[in-house]
Amino acid sequence: MKFCPKCGSVLIPVKEKGHVYLVCKKCGYKELAADETYVEKTKVERKKKIKEFTGEPPKESEEEREYVLESFSSGELDQEAEEEEEEEEEEEEDAYRRRERA
Ligand SMILES: [Zn+2]
Repeated sequence: MKFCPKCGSVLIPVKEKGHVYLVCKKCGYKELAADETYVEKTKVERKKKIKEFTGEPPKESEEEREYVLESFSSGELDQEAEEEEEEEEEEEEDAYRRRERA
C-alpha cells in the first residue's frame, strides 16, 4: 500500500485508459502505478522500433521478435517510455482535477 506524498492519505489504484494510476481521493494527487502499465507501454514502444530498424515484414512470430528485441535493446527503450509517461501523466492529472471541481 502506498501513501500520498502531499497529504499522507492512502493512494487508491484506479484503472484508466488501460493504465493503472494511484490516486489520492483527498487532494487529487495522482501517479502512474509502476508495474503492469509500464510493461504495456514498453511493449508498444518496442513494436514501433522493430518497424524502424528492420523495414521488412516479420518472418518470425510476434512473440519471438519481441523476445529477440528485448535481449539487445531494452535499456534504451525503457528510458524513452518513461519520458513519455511523465508528459501523459500531467495532462491526465489536469483532467482529473477538472472533474473533481465539476
Ligand atoms: Zn493527497
